[in-house]
Amino acid sequence: MQYYSDIGLEVHVELSTRTKMFCGCPVVDPTVALPNSAVCPVCLGMPGTLPVINQQAVAFAIKAGLALHCTIAERSVFARKNYFYPDLPKGYQISQYELPISYEGWIAVNTSRGKKNIHIRRAHLEEDTGKLSHCNETNDSYSLVDLNRAGIPLLEIVSEPDMHTVEEVRAYSQELRMLLRYLGVTSGDMEKGAMRFEANVSMRASEKAELGTRVEIKNLNSIHAMEKAINYELARQQKILESGGEVLQETLGWNEARSETFTQRSKEEAHDYRYFPEPDLPPLIVEKAWIASIAGEIPELPEQKRSRYQEDMGLPADKTELLVQDKATSAYFDEAVKAAEDISPSTIANWMVGDLFGWMNESGCSIRDIRVNPQELTRLIRFHEQKVVNKNSAKEILQEMLRNGKSAEEIIHEKGLEQISSSDELEKAVVTVLQKYPAEVESFHAGKETVFNWLFGQVMQATGGKANPQKVREILKKALS
Ligand code: ADP
Ligand code: MG
Ligand code: ZN
Repeated sequence: MQYYSDIGLEVHVELSTRTKMFCGCPVVDPTVALPNSAVCPVCLGMPGTLPVINQQAVAFAIKAGLALHCTIAERSVFARKNYFYPDLPKGYQISQYELPISYEGWIAVNTSRGKKNIHIRRAHLEEDTGKLSHCNETNDSYSLVDLNRAGIPLLEIVSEPDMHTVEEVRAYSQELRMLLRYLGVTSGDMEKGAMRFEANVSMRASEKAELGTRVEIKNLNSIHAMEKAINYELARQQKILESGGEVLQETLGWNEARSETFTQRSKEEAHDYRYFPEPDLPPLIVEKAWIASIAGEIPELPEQKRSRYQEDMGLPADKTELLVQDKATSAYFDEAVKAAEDISPSTIANWMVGDLFGWMNESGCSIRDIRVNPQELTRLIRFHEQKVVNKNSAKEILQEMLRNGKSAEEIIHEKGLEQISSSDELEKAVVTVLQKYPAEVESFHAGKETVFNWLFGQVMQATGGKANPQKVREILKKALS
C-alpha cells in the first residue's frame, strides 16, 4: 500500500535586534557571553516589573510577514502561554495566540518536481526562553540555567501541512532561511540556535483521505537532522499503519546519536497552556503608513533575482542558484555586471562560479573578505577579452590578485605577462619550432593532421603560454602550407 505523508513546520527565528523583546538587555552571542551576564529584573521575571514592546522586533516581524506574502494585522494581541519549566522565569511566555501580527501567506520553493507554493498559516512574535545545561557527574547530576536567551525576540513561522516529501521540507527550510537572511532580520545561524525547526508529521492512506494523526518532533539541530528524523518517523508510522495500528499524537525528541525519535510527552492541547491576553501590554496597533514604509525597505529577494538573472541575463539555472544563495554574493555579481557593460553577464558569472568560488573554498574566505572587488575582477576579465592576456595567464593573475590584493594591471606589468600578439614575434616562434621538428612537419604533410595541434602546443610552450592562441593557429597554418 502506498501511503501519503503530510508535513508542516514550526520555525523559531531569533530576530537580530540589538535588545530583547520586552526589556533593554542586549542580545548577546551565546558562544561568547558569560552565562547570566545579559539579564535584568524584567527578563528574570521579578515581580512588579513590566514589559515594554521592542519596536525594532515589530518592524522585523512586519518585514518578514510581508516578504512571506502574509496579511499584516493592524491590531494584534500578546498573550500569556502558561507553563512551568526552569528555563522560563515568569512561569509564562509572552506570545501571540488568537491575533498574531501576520497570517495567511506563502513562499515559493523549487524542487526537482517543479515550483510549488508552501502556505504559511501564521507568523507571530514571542519571547525566547532561557537555556538549560544538564550535567551528569559521577555522584551528582544537576542542571545549570542561563537566562541570557530569555526574552530574545522570536518570530514563530507556522506552515500549513503542505509538504509531502523530505525534499520539499529541505527546499522550504533553505528558501525560508535565505529569504530571512536577505531581509536582514536574523543571522539564521542554526549552530547558534538562531533558527530552530520543529516538524509535524503524519500519514494517511491516500491523498483523498482526512489528515492522519500527527506527531511533533523537537530538538532538531540542523536541516540534515530534521530530514533524518522525518524519514525515521515516516517509516515508523507506515509500519504502524500497515499492521493496522494507530499513531499516537505525541511530542517526540530526536536522538541524534542513536538516529531515532523518542517520546517526550503526550501531546499538550492549547487549553493546557491557559492562554489569556497579556494584561501588562496593550494590543499592538501598527499604522498602515508604517507598514507601507517597511514594505519600501524590502530589498530585491531571491525569487526576483532568479528571474532577473535567468530571463533578463540568460544565465543557466545552476549558476543562478549559486549566485543568489546569499545577498553578498549576488550584490558582488550585480556590481560587477554594472561595472562592465562591455562584458556579458554569463562571462562574469563563469569567472565567479569557477575561479572566485574555487578560491573561497580553498582559502575559507567569504565573499566579504576577498581582496578583489567586483570592479577589479571585471578589469581582469576585460584584459582577457581584449586578448592582452590569455586564459591561463588570466587565471594565474586572478589567483595572485586574491592572494596579495594587487591589481590585475600591476601583476601583468610586473610579470611581463602581456600576451604576445605581435606577428613578428609569433612568426619567429613558429619558424623556430618547425625547424626543430622536421620529422613531425613531414608526417603532417603526409596526412597526419593531429600533428598540427601538437606543433601548436610547442609554439605555445616556447612563448611561455603568452602567445595569442588564435594568431598562432593562423600563422602556423600559413607556415605549414
Ligand atoms: P500546535 O503545534 O501549537 O498545536 P497547530 O495545531 O496549529 O499548533 O499545528 C502546528 C503545525 O502542525 C503546523 O505547522 C501544521 O501545519 C502542522 N500540522 C497540523 N496538523 C497536521 C497533520 N495532520 N500532519 C502534519 N502536520 C500537521
Ligand atoms: Mg506545535
Ligand atoms: Zn532584561
